[in-house]
Amino acid sequence: RAAAATVLAALETVAETVDAHADELGRMDAIAGDGDHGIGMQRGSHAAVAAAREAVEAGAGAGTTLARAGDGWSHRAGGTSGALWGLALREVGATLGDEAAPTRDAVAAGVTAADTGIRSYGKAEVGDKTMVDALVPFADALRREVDAGSRLADAWASAASEASAAAAATADLLPRMGRARPHAEKSLGTPDPGAHSFALIVTAVGETLA
Ligand code: ADP
Ligand code: MG
Ligand code: MG
Repeated sequence: RAAAATVLAALETVAETVDAHADELGRMDAIAGDGDHGIGMQRGSHAAVAAAREAVEAGAGAGTTLARAGDGWSHRAGGTSGALWGLALREVGATLGDEAAPTRDAVAAGVTAADTGIRSYGKAEVGDKTMVDALVPFADALRREVDAGSRLADAWASAASEASAAAAATADLLPRMGRARPHAEKSLGTPDPGAHSFALIVTAVGETLA
């Protein structure tokens, strides 16, 4: 089950990336939110790794592994971002299914499904200063690059660089959703923590595909 092993390795990279940036994410979230974004992402990503490892050891395919990982993430993380990341992993898993070797087209479709699911569940749109501000350009660029015939690693890397630029640009926005909204002005000059963590994660995962 090569694809399930790749999923597990990618989730391990996610957890390592979150660990390396947990303090920074917590500080960013403390400016206008409640300061728990680093710890919440750590709890969620480590639970996702544990659940994925168990699934892989039991012989699960990529789709099932992602579904278990998403459940683990949202159950353990708490918070808005935990629910949304859990949903994202389940959406990607449902799109990929348990095929031995998902195509790059299926990967792009999975990311689009995660994007659609997160916006429909959380009701945020681009410009509300949430992770959606990084997710939408990432999903759109990945689709565009895959359709243009790029290798998955190249398509992912250029989508991740768009996500990073978009996350940085949220510094100029006022939050219109989530816990940061009542303290919106305080967050001016600081990027949205959920957009920033999204960009860090997709960048790190992209490096593992290269
Ligand atoms: P909580 O806000 O519950 O403490 P976190 O601190 O872990 O959860 O996550 C905060 C991040 O969640 C925000 O920076 C933002 O990116 C994201 N977020 C908040 N509300 C929404 C929403 N409705 N849709 C999408 N993302 C959201
Ligand atoms: Mg928070
Ligand atoms: Mg919280």
